[in-house]
Amino acid sequence: MGLLDRLTSLFSSRPSKEADDAIHIYVECGRCKSPVHVRLDKRHDLSQGEKGGFFVRKEIMDSKCFRLMTAEIMFDTGYRIQTQDLQGGRFLSKEEFEAATASEAGPDRPGRPGGASPL
Ligand SMILES: [Zn+2]
Repeated sequence: MGLLDRLTSLFSSRPSKEADDAIHIYVECGRCKSPVHVRLDKRHDLSQGEKGGFFVRKEIMDSKCFRLMTAEIMFDTGYRIQTQDLQGGRFLSKEEFEAATASEAGPDRPGRPGGASPL
């Protein structure tokens, strides 16, 4: 038991480095506009890309209309996004995602300003 306790404390006292192993992306469903946060694990979700970087193909489902979206993202060796494509929706920035989730909490908010797409 003593050993197990020690192992357990070893694991629980591990620094919060877990966050470094994940890439967070934010998407919006093309149908119901529901924002979705997706966590990509660098070790499990990413595959080695053809040009030395990394590649991920991820199926994403929102919790509102359950429509499946497919994200394909290419990263360089520093895990920076090179190209990204999303079928069935569009990518959001972290700020856009936060604004979208905040507006879900408060329905009185005015609609999205502008509407000009950066792409
Ligand atoms: Zn949806």
